[in-house]
Amino acid sequence: MRKPTQTNAQSNASISSLIRGTRCKRTAQEVMAARVRYWLPEAQEFNINRMIRRYAYIAKHLPAFIATAVLKSITNCRCTSSRFHDGGSPCRVCGEDGKDDLRHYINCNAIRSILHTILPKLEAQWGDDISNIEGFMLMGRMRRVEQLLGIAIAHDLVLCTINTLRTRGQAANLLQTEQLMRARARQQAVRDIRARKVFQQLAN
Ligand SMILES: [Zn+2]
Repeated sequence: MRKPTQTNAQSNASISSLIRGTRCKRTAQEVMAARVRYWLPEAQEFNINRMIRRYAYIAKHLPAFIATAVLKSITNCRCTSSRFHDGGSPCRVCGEDGKDDLRHYINCNAIRSILHTILPKLEAQWGDDISNIEGFMLMGRMRRVEQLLGIAIAHDLVLCTINTLRTRGQAANLLQTEQLMRARARQQAVRDIRARKVFQQLAN
């Protein structure tokens, strides 16, 4: 085999570094801190280690599809129009113009109302002040551990429902949103007994 020239060796190194991604060398704390800074630009300080511990707890006590949903949300890896810099699409649930945006989905009154109809005992609010974003980011105050697991379940319920509504391309419809969210809750319960238990604790 021919010995690679210096140029080849250099480009191999660059490709390798591209594949590995220089950003991937950052620690979990650094990656999460950057995400939190995106969601809470005004925050003076935040406890990243506590957030990571909570995420690890979710990953240990709930199935991977729910833990993945949480991670995708808090790192803003959702296919909203705003992520693709297409500000024209409306909220998939309430229909407000230009609001197909995860930041709006955390604050959407229609979503909050449906979510709390389905999970009335979920303490964390999905509403319009900063504490709700902290809850969404696993950083809010939590008195009981099932509330933390409930937030994870809510991430999956809300965001899978929005994905389905987007795929169908239909106009916003509150009744249909609630039906889809309930269907997703049933699916979670069928797929995993731990998710079913948390759901039952927060629903009754
Ligand atoms: Zn909305």
